[in-house]
Amino acid sequence: MYSYIVLYSFLLGITLGSFYNVIGLRVPAGQSIIMPPSHCPSCGRRLTILDLIPVFSYIFLGGKCRTCHSKISLLYPIIEAGTGFLFLFSFLRATSIEEMLCGWLLVSLLMIMLVSDLEYMLIPDKILMFFLILFTIFRIIYHTNPWWDALAGMATGFALLALIALISHGGMGGGDVKLFAVMGLLVGMKLVILGFFLSAFFGAIIGIGGLILGFIKHRQPVPFVPFIVLGMLTSFFFGDRLIAFYLNLTF
Ligand SMILES: [Zn+2]
Repeated sequence: MYSYIVLYSFLLGITLGSFYNVIGLRVPAGQSIIMPPSHCPSCGRRLTILDLIPVFSYIFLGGKCRTCHSKISLLYPIIEAGTGFLFLFSFLRATSIEEMLCGWLLVSLLMIMLVSDLEYMLIPDKILMFFLILFTIFRIIYHTNPWWDALAGMATGFALLALIALISHGGMGGGDVKLFAVMGLLVGMKLVILGFFLSAFFGAIIGIGGLILGFIKHRQPVPFVPFIVLGMLTSFFFGDRLIAFYLNLTF
């Protein structure tokens, strides 16, 4: 039974991941997520079930379109596999159904935002609104934290990022501010604060490393969502342990 649920979590993750690619690519461009059906962006051939099996199609097709042999972006299978493993990991780490669902929701939001940010450098309001409603319903049904912590998390996520946006004069976009507010509602105040600092930490380390190694140029705009993904997931999965470890060091 256990191994079935493990397998199911992974399969659900890669299937939804494939859908998250579509959402992240189409919604910011103002396209419908249903019409037209999936097609090769180079030759326009409509994709069949054989092209659409998450991760496996990419591997079997060698990362190329069956008709025109143009390359398929590596981002798609990465998002699919990433969502699969993170769904699986959420299940393995969770101590309750609520916690698992909370992990799945957070991963879902982050994966869609990752696609959109890498493709368009954009965090679309429409998707944020959808998740704001979804997270609100979740927090009403499941009391993972006290209700005021959801509001405090949202306010803190907003205020912290708005402050940084003001100080950095546009180094942080309005989309990042709203994204942290929405995530704060789901994970609460403590984890959203930690998630923010970890995101900034990963951003600084990789940013400085990139400048030194020369794959990022000075003043080149860099998408920030990849660091938010790293920071928030670290905070969500390991936050309580990290905070306990830190408190042990200082006191
Ligand atoms: Zn093609």
